[in-house]
Amino acid sequence: MIAALPSFGATLWFLGGVVLFRFIWKVGLGMLRGMSSPLPAPPPTGEMRRINVRYRCGVCGVELRMVMAPDEDPPPPRHCLEDMDLVAPVD
Ligand SMILES: [Zn+2]
Repeated sequence: MIAALPSFGATLWFLGGVVLFRFIWKVGLGMLRGMSSPLPAPPPTGEMRRINVRYRCGVCGVELRMVMAPDEDPPPPRHCLEDMDLVAPVD
């Protein structure tokens, strides 16, 4: 009757497979979760402020206009690894 029972080795393989499967499952779920939310979602457009300011890069001179920000006085964007200079609010 002992021969009818699965051998110790087979049981070990089965348990090992279950553990491995659960491990891969968890890693896969973690990766899925990481891909679905890489960054916090931006606030809804209703909470964004319409602004209109210009910034100039003090290094290369490029200028850009910011039209939307989470608040009235956002931190300046960076260009050439430096904070850009606020030129003037535009109307
Ligand atoms: Zn620049």
